Amino acid sequence: MIYDEEFETLPHEALEALQLKRLRQVVQRVYHNVGFYKKAFDKAGVSPDNLNTIEDLKRFPMTTKQDLRDNYPFGLFAAPMSNIVRLHASSGTTGASTVVGYTRQDIETWAELMGRCFVAAGLTKNDIIHNAYGYGLFTGGLGAHYGAEKIGASVVPISGGNTKRQVMILQDFGPTAICCTPSYALNLAEQGTAMGVDMRKLALRVGIFGAEPWTEKMRDEIEKALSIKAFNIYGLSEIMGPGVAMECDEVRDGMHIFEDHFLVETIDPKTGETLPAGSEGELVFTTLTKEAFPLIRYRTRDICRIDPTPCRCGRTHRRMGRVLGRSDDMLIIRGVNVFPSQIEAVLIGIEGLEPHYQLIVDREGSLDTLEVQVELSEKQFAGADEIKTLQKLENRLRKDMKDYLGITAKIKLVEPKTIQRSEGKISRVVDKRNL
Ligand code: ADP
Ligand code: ZN
Repeated sequence: MIYDEEFETLPHEALEALQLKRLRQVVQRVYHNVGFYKKAFDKAGVSPDNLNTIEDLKRFPMTTKQDLRDNYPFGLFAAPMSNIVRLHASSGTTGASTVVGYTRQDIETWAELMGRCFVAAGLTKNDIIHNAYGYGLFTGGLGAHYGAEKIGASVVPISGGNTKRQVMILQDFGPTAICCTPSYALNLAEQGTAMGVDMRKLALRVGIFGAEPWTEKMRDEIEKALSIKAFNIYGLSEIMGPGVAMECDEVRDGMHIFEDHFLVETIDPKTGETLPAGSEGELVFTTLTKEAFPLIRYRTRDICRIDPTPCRCGRTHRRMGRVLGRSDDMLIIRGVNVFPSQIEAVLIGIEGLEPHYQLIVDREGSLDTLEVQVELSEKQFAGADEIKTLQKLENRLRKDMKDYLGITAKIKLVEPKTIQRSEGKISRVVDKRNL
């Protein structure tokens, strides 16, 4: 099912023409309304009149998270406060939070795009959506909320946390879909099971998970634990919030980026150079329709690959692959670059281990070291007096990490339920190097 048949299936040329038209408008808007952009464009020797093709955008300077911080809180707004109806702030996973604003039209667009996401997952007005994304300054809760109402579904605004109560509501209200972070979905499944509830027998059939990196193996775990079909959704508060890109029900291989609203480029995070279609690199977004807080060439620091091949579902918007992680989450262990999500992919496949883990990075002399702490399953733990079996498991994980990722790590198998569970966005890495 497609929410907005016309715009989601626009033929390539029509889409590009629309993008160019909107691009010229937004560049004019920021040039005339935001001092920061006027200065930056003048300094780079470009003006809105230089935009004759989409390619011309490459001559414009990029915007970074630091620019947002330097202009904290409202310095980059392109609309007067009297036209701004909502403020949000990023969750501050990495450093100080950044503030974003929305006009009434921006909220409307956001609701439409989240509506597209729900419909792409096969939801309709007959569904009940359990929305366990955090409500508040974080964009997840309210973003999903408005989208759910947009398609006429019944939304349960449960927000994050208070997990026992969530399990009760899942039983009593019978929601058919759930939205939350993937790590919280696992936590819910686990706590529900511990309460004696068969979490596979609930009415849930669809889960929409995002806001943090996860893997295909994690998808399998969640689908099994809750007996649902799990979808990946992507967004970031700077660009809008959730609903920038979403998987479709037909394929679930890559998330369609809503290209009529967001122009995407991939760059080499080191050199800033634009990469050819299909290469792995950092995503850079330009918002095409936002009024209050437009961003030109915003560097997300999210590393992934864009798949330009057509999709069976009929949508013409290109798909982004799974986000490996943020460039600033990347660990460099003795010269080898690795993302936490790659480590997750290795350890989830191993029988006897649970998908709950933590990575501890430290420094010995001038070398970075990595310790992987991972939980044993209850079953494995019960039979753990067999030291040999545990050693085997440890060796297996150590070897797989070496074989697949090329890194040497210290492995520590820990007792079930000892690693902290997620209530929202989870943090997998403990970095002791700067302490
Ligand atoms: P913060 O930057 O404080 O975490 P946001 O809530 O705006 O604030 O988080 C957006 C970030 O979350 C994205 O830039 C990306 O790194 C991550 N993210 C969002 N959705 C996904 C997803 N489906 N897969 C991987 N990472 C995601
Ligand atoms: Zn598709």
